[in-house]
Amino acid sequence: MEEIKIFCPATIANVSCGFDVLGLALDSVGDIMTVRKSTEEGIRITKISGQELPLETKKNVAGVAGLALLEKSGLKGGFEIEIDKKIKPGSGIGSSAASSAGAVWAMNELLGRPFSKLELVQFAMQGEQLASDVAHADNVAPALFGGFTLVRSYDPLDIVPIPTPDELFATVIHPQIEIKTSDSRKILKTNISLEKGIQQWGNLGGLIAGLFQSDYDLIGRSLEDHIIEPIRSILIPGFDQIKSGAINSGALGCGISGSGPSIFALSKGQDVAETVAQSMDKIYSDVGIPFDIHISKINTKGVKKIA
Ligand code: ADP
Repeated sequence: MEEIKIFCPATIANVSCGFDVLGLALDSVGDIMTVRKSTEEGIRITKISGQELPLETKKNVAGVAGLALLEKSGLKGGFEIEIDKKIKPGSGIGSSAASSAGAVWAMNELLGRPFSKLELVQFAMQGEQLASDVAHADNVAPALFGGFTLVRSYDPLDIVPIPTPDELFATVIHPQIEIKTSDSRKILKTNISLEKGIQQWGNLGGLIAGLFQSDYDLIGRSLEDHIIEPIRSILIPGFDQIKSGAINSGALGCGISGSGPSIFALSKGQDVAETVAQSMDKIYSDVGIPFDIHISKINTKGVKKIA
């Protein structure tokens, strides 16, 4: 195989109670990338459509993640990458992660899969380092593994895939304002109280147990964040109304997607996810900021070949 065309899913990181450790992949939102082998050494980004992003290899997360893999592979030669960017950078649904994960997944396929998924996550994290100054894995892990993933430990890196209940749907509203991950990290406190810690790990354990048991009520009770959301939600106009509208429409829970500004809700069944979308649409039409809304099943496969 000389060339591969892939779908790179958008992802929701944190998922309320799992700051920096939990993430999930979406099915209906993502970038398209084409990666091909080249006799020329190194990585060249030959085309980007959809968004204005740097073509320079070391300034594009796909290039940086790809170089990390290339160096480890010892390959003589290189790759050309085309990115059709559907996920806006700074949207909070893993725009940089989709490109980082997609580049390394495609290169690994073209090389005959010499690397494990865990190694691919490590390469892709180099792209996240470029995008947000932190090599976090909570977007690239679900993009590569699919479904929900837990980053049990960063050192050593330990990724735990978590099962996805069949009827779980996400509704995501993306207000068209840009919040850079690096900026929304700066406003966070570096210490938390023991009381808040206890609430948070109780909820994270509850959410993981709920996902394993397909216990939607437990999932709903656990989708709470007493640490990050109260601080970051201030950056997102209309957050409180969107959240109460989603819960009143039957969502299991609602919170900030990644570092925002996107807001996600999880629901049991597509019908509820659609009712939540209608509520979001109605509320945000009054806020006066342009927005997109996505309804998606949880993607259990991660990055996939489409041609
Ligand atoms: P997101 O959470 O949506 O990934 P970030 O703020 O973390 O948003 O990352 C976006 C940053 O990464 C922007 O500064 C953008 O210019 C940079 N970037 C570099 N290459 C890419 C790429 N291929 N896709 C998306 N963002 C990229």
